[in-house]
Amino acid sequence: MKKIKLAGILTGVLLACGAYAGTPPEVKFDQGADLSQFLRSAVDQAIPPPARLAPEPDKPVWISVFNEDIKQLDGKFSFKDREAMIQSQSASVFKVNASELGSLSEIMHRKLHKCGGFFTHSSPESAAKDLSPAPAAAAPAYTIDRRDQVLALLKLSEEKGITDTITSLSAYKNRYYTSQTGVDSAKWLQAYWSKLAAGRSDISVEAYKHANWAQQSVILTVKGTAEPQNIVVLGGHLDSISRGGDSADAHGADDNASGIAALTEAIRVIVASGYRPSKTLKFMGYAAEEVGLRGSQDIAGAFKRDGAQVEGVIQFDMTNFNGSAEDIFLIADNTNAAQNAFLGGLVKAYTDYRLGETKCGYACSDHASWTKNGYAASFPFESKFGEDNPNIHTPKDTLAQSGGRSLHAFKFAKLAIAYLVETAK
Ligand SMILES: [Zn+2]
Repeated sequence: MKKIKLAGILTGVLLACGAYAGTPPEVKFDQGADLSQFLRSAVDQAIPPPARLAPEPDKPVWISVFNEDIKQLDGKFSFKDREAMIQSQSASVFKVNASELGSLSEIMHRKLHKCGGFFTHSSPESAAKDLSPAPAAAAPAYTIDRRDQVLALLKLSEEKGITDTITSLSAYKNRYYTSQTGVDSAKWLQAYWSKLAAGRSDISVEAYKHANWAQQSVILTVKGTAEPQNIVVLGGHLDSISRGGDSADAHGADDNASGIAALTEAIRVIVASGYRPSKTLKFMGYAAEEVGLRGSQDIAGAFKRDGAQVEGVIQFDMTNFNGSAEDIFLIADNTNAAQNAFLGGLVKAYTDYRLGETKCGYACSDHASWTKNGYAASFPFESKFGEDNPNIHTPKDTLAQSGGRSLHAFKFAKLAIAYLVETAK
């Protein structure tokens, strides 16, 4: 065995790890020198420390709530003890602490069976805007005339892709907006969408960072070939919630891994078919929907401020629980009637699914963030409201509850494909 100079090698390793910028200290083994501090320092500097997640600071936020909902919640969320700061005939603004949002969401769900149910804002001025009626949306003249292209893409769509995405997303303990797994799952989605889009220079994927909490939103853009300034948005929330916040079991397989999975299958089909839209498509996974539609409000508000020409928005939130006689329910309130009729036409033209209509109330999901900014938004839902998945916002919202399959969600992926081809032409 060759004799080696251990001290010299160790110093070399420490230098390689970037432990010392200047002259290394002299280390003499035979004098019993304590090396632990040097090793610790070397390791600390060589390996980045694990990301420590800062919770959202418990500062005041302002929520807007529907007056009818307040009546039903009274005593449950101590609205009796709080004075509305501003009130209109339909809604009221309250000041709460950020740490109360999780429990407000839980009450909204338990008492009113809502996924969202209120808007959260970082200023009272911003919340006050919710009390004015939403500006009317300019909806384009809808036509259904791309049959061959729609059918070609539909032929490539598969249930398996949807099941895979639901399985991956619901494997996280939760996707809560302030938890480490909430952050990690959003990053996973960004990486997965990037992987699906690899090889297409017209497709980009970005993390949309939010100022007040750690979980990012994710946006995949397919740039339009002829009218890139005209945008069609297909979205759903990527976060999940259950009692216990950061540490809860909230696998959120139906709410809303299933919506993200339907969108993801549409993305996979776009790439597999080589389809290129004339207008720009933006697929969005929103952060922090469950605590006041916060991710989608940030994004829709920014699009509005930038004067973005968003021609249509479709929301997928809960797609894999087949709870009613009909297959796809179009949410009739806080959505665009003309675009809803167009969606009904798409279902009839390209599927044999049974259509229903239902309402879900004030701020029930991210479509409401777009509607209030004057954009034409629609929301196809898994069942009649009230007959939807009873396990959401509990540890029981798993794929096993749908028999390990994505048969119902598959219908929504097909609708997403028909919608994007017939709108972004
Ligand atoms: Zn949801």
